[in-house]
Amino acid sequence: MKFSTKLIHGSKNPEQKSKPLAPAITLSTTFYYNESDYKYSRSNNPNRNLLEEKLAILENAKFCSAFSSGVAAISSILMYLKPGDSLIVNKAIYGGTFRIIKDILEPFNIKAIWCNLSNLEEAKKLILPSTKMVYFETPSNPLLKIFDIKAIAKFASDFDLISVCDNTFLSPYFQNPLELGVSVVVHSTSKFLGGHSDITGGAVMTNDEKLYTHIKMFQKTNGAVPSPFDTWLTERSLKTLAVRMNKQDENARAVATFLKESNYCKMVYYPGLYDDEESRIHKSQATGGGAVVSVDFGSQERALGVVLNFELFAFAESLGGVESIVSHPFTMSHSFLSPEEKEENGITPGLLRFSCGLEDSNDLISDIKKAVEEFDNRK
Ligand code: PLP
Repeated sequence: MKFSTKLIHGSKNPEQKSKPLAPAITLSTTFYYNESDYKYSRSNNPNRNLLEEKLAILENAKFCSAFSSGVAAISSILMYLKPGDSLIVNKAIYGGTFRIIKDILEPFNIKAIWCNLSNLEEAKKLILPSTKMVYFETPSNPLLKIFDIKAIAKFASDFDLISVCDNTFLSPYFQNPLELGVSVVVHSTSKFLGGHSDITGGAVMTNDEKLYTHIKMFQKTNGAVPSPFDTWLTERSLKTLAVRMNKQDENARAVATFLKESNYCKMVYYPGLYDDEESRIHKSQATGGGAVVSVDFGSQERALGVVLNFELFAFAESLGGVESIVSHPFTMSHSFLSPEEKEENGITPGLLRFSCGLEDSNDLISDIKKAVEEFDNRK
């Protein structure tokens, strides 16, 4: 072997000689064509496959496709629609999904029919001959509104529509929308599934082979695929999902209870503490309130003033990580909405969204207490 050949072939792949317990990260973009189930990493990769298999099991789905971000995952199913089609979209959704619909679907002549899926009788009246899909999330970002998954899935199937539910806020640990009848579940795996604020990813799960065939085609053809390292890391993170969700839910409940009993804020939103119709629906379809609490501090000046005083809650975008995060939806996740759309959706300038991590709940409460009192005492 000459030097340049030795550089390429001088050492053997250790995978051929050992059998490790933890999965190896397969970085190779290509595979020996006649000797492998894999051909090219954009189409398929062992780490991605392992993650997809696990996520399918967790959502009790037949099929799962992993993507490089939550919005790529959402796009894969929304792009099932064709020019001339329309979809019913619940108004209470993540700002980035709103942006996909406004900036990508609508220019392709795919019409969004915005509605409130709490009122299915009204939604029924909005269905057009071109309507093919219903899209929603529950609990919603950022106001944690609850929508009846079973009723929406039935509404969709009665009118032969595909129903899509974003299950990011609760993860499959607390809620399994496919079991309640929806056609497709989407996740941002950047949040609780990744869980450490160090991976961007997404996933789509379904039991419908026709939809899966489209999603798989979109994954390969559009190419928004996650890297082997990111899929390896997400699969590894899933091993602690149950313990993380239990503790984060416990912390969020403690924070929400403290804030509700305080005189610090106008309004506290947390599904685990609702005591009305929303609570009945939530309890019938989910086993926990989740880790996110939203709080209205009355004005933008007060919300952003309080934020500056936190020591434990990081003022940052995103949610679902082991470290607590606080964000201001009005200027961050939902900044894309017009002032009228924000007002209509209840995204007020004083709203802060807390994602509770794994810290001690007493420390988180002390952090909030100190931050609010420092601001109020200065005034
Ligand atoms: N769905 C929900 C409910 C979200 O909150 C987000 C992001 O915040 C997304 C989807 C998009 O996920 P990603 O940022 O991984 O693209």
